[in-house]
Amino acid sequence: MNCFMCKGELEEKRVNYIVDLKETIIIIKSVPAKVCKQCGEQYFDDEIAENIERIVNKLKQLSAEVTIVNYKENVA
Ligand SMILES: [Zn+2]
Repeated sequence: MNCFMCKGELEEKRVNYIVDLKETIIIIKSVPAKVCKQCGEQYFDDEIAENIERIVNKLKQLSAEVTIVNYKENVA
């Protein structure tokens, strides 16, 4: 699999995923992703994307201004 944007090579990395909602900002640390070596575009597997969604849905109910969590600790 190559980058959809620039056809560059992807590498496995851990990234910080930031969700900027109006009321709150959620930062999920160390999310496994494939990152383009050329343009930095990030890609997530379906399973990871689903987990991210679940974490975000859970955390946005906390209504804290900023919430920082670790991906691994929030995936059972
Ligand atoms: Zn790229």
